[in-house]
Amino acid sequence: MNFSTEYTDKLHKITLNFPDEREREYRDNYFIRSFKTVRIGFIILSFIYGFFGYLDSIMAEDYFNLFIVIRVVVVAVLLFVVFLSYTKNFKHYWQSLIFFAYLLGAIGIIIMLILIPEASVYSSGLMLVFLAGAVLIKLRFLSFSIASWIVIILYIIASSFASNVHYKTIISNSFFFIGATLIGMLAAYANEIFNRQNFNLYLQIAKKNAEIEDVNKNLEEKVHKRTRLLNSRNKELKEEIKSRILIQKELVLAKEKAEESDKLKSAFLANMSHEIRTPMNGIVGFANLLREAEDEAELEEFIEIIIKNGEHLLNLINDIIDLSKIEAGILVIENSWFELNRLTKEIYDMFSVEENVVNKNLKLSYKNGLADDESMVYADRVRLKQIIINLVNNACKYTDEGTIYFYYTLINSTLKFHIIDTGIGIKEEQQESIFDRFMQASTSRTSGRESTGLGLAITKNYLNLMGGSIVVSSKLNVGSEFIFELPIDNKYNPN
Ligand code: ADP
Repeated sequence: MNFSTEYTDKLHKITLNFPDEREREYRDNYFIRSFKTVRIGFIILSFIYGFFGYLDSIMAEDYFNLFIVIRVVVVAVLLFVVFLSYTKNFKHYWQSLIFFAYLLGAIGIIIMLILIPEASVYSSGLMLVFLAGAVLIKLRFLSFSIASWIVIILYIIASSFASNVHYKTIISNSFFFIGATLIGMLAAYANEIFNRQNFNLYLQIAKKNAEIEDVNKNLEEKVHKRTRLLNSRNKELKEEIKSRILIQKELVLAKEKAEESDKLKSAFLANMSHEIRTPMNGIVGFANLLREAEDEAELEEFIEIIIKNGEHLLNLINDIIDLSKIEAGILVIENSWFELNRLTKEIYDMFSVEENVVNKNLKLSYKNGLADDESMVYADRVRLKQIIINLVNNACKYTDEGTIYFYYTLINSTLKFHIIDTGIGIKEEQQESIFDRFMQASTSRTSGRESTGLGLAITKNYLNLMGGSIVVSSKLNVGSEFIFELPIDNKYNPN
């Protein structure tokens, strides 16, 4: 990178101005850097200008009064510039003001120079000091050059007209002035070039800085964007991990369930073969014994046993078929309108002559929750009947004495059916498992009762299928109450 070439190529050869808007910026900048020096320079110059007044009293006694006036005027102007440097608009006219102040100071010296040509060394020294001071007052190269040459020309013209000035004095003084001006111009030129070069560098650095800042900002934005993207991706990943963990858990659960179901299936098959074999053995065994019966009564007894076992086997097979159908999902619920009170009556009639009720002299009773003519309901009659029969049958089976009572209520389309007995009851820890397949509660107390362990499982499955539920509350040796609930439509409209 070659800043100086770039810089010198573009600067105006004489004015040294920038060709573009940099000029305005440079002037502003130059002012900011210079105005304090200007102030100090003017103070020093006015001091020197005034101090030479003392020398006047020695060197130019005759003109002392006139010289003092000139000095007072010039010093006043110089100090006025110092004063103006404190005003707000100084920046706009400072170079012109300095230009004129400089000219004025020089004209003062020219006048003195012409009036006392014999003291030319004194005046020339004064002029040189003044010219040197020009650098201090920060006149730009061009203004300085113009002002200095005006001073020289003015001096030559004015002194040529003055009769008392010898032409040799004019030549020697002019020689001094021109020499000093050339040196001053060179210094001002070099100084200004250097200043502008610096300024140009400063501008380029500022530009580069701005570019870097821009890049930085872009980078920051990019980093921000990336961070945001990463964060959201992180969040997504976390969610995914969460859902995967959930799926994994579900899979483990499903696997456990499948294993459990497999185990249950095996147990079911084992149970089933056992349950079937028992009545089958009875049937085959007693059928063989038929031929050997000693009398009519024994024959009758064997036939009775065979029929009983056959019935049990049939029940068992029916239950197994029902359960299989439910589990295979092929059991269809068939709803129809029917009279609930008629159903309860059928069940009552059926159980009032049932073996257990009759043999154990149980007191069977029931109560309807609706009047006969309001008891139309829309449900699967066959399944509902089977459910109630299962529960009443269990009540009869597991009650040795006392009462069996069933009743229902139907409120807000919910049928609530209660079957209460004063039977052997169920241990608390078994009250949940009795609804599982082949679950029969405590063996010794339930022995002697015809049992498959399927009734409650079928009942619960039916109810689930129809959107209902079942619970039991029971106390050992006191009795049990089975309650099932079923959503049921009873807004019968015959039209
Ligand atoms: P099963 O009666 O054929 O054994 P269930 O599924 O109907 O099969 O009943 C399961 C078990 O629940 C029965 O073996 C019995 O121990 C118990 N149980 C059912 N109902 C009653 C009841 N009303 N009182 C006492 N125990 C009962």
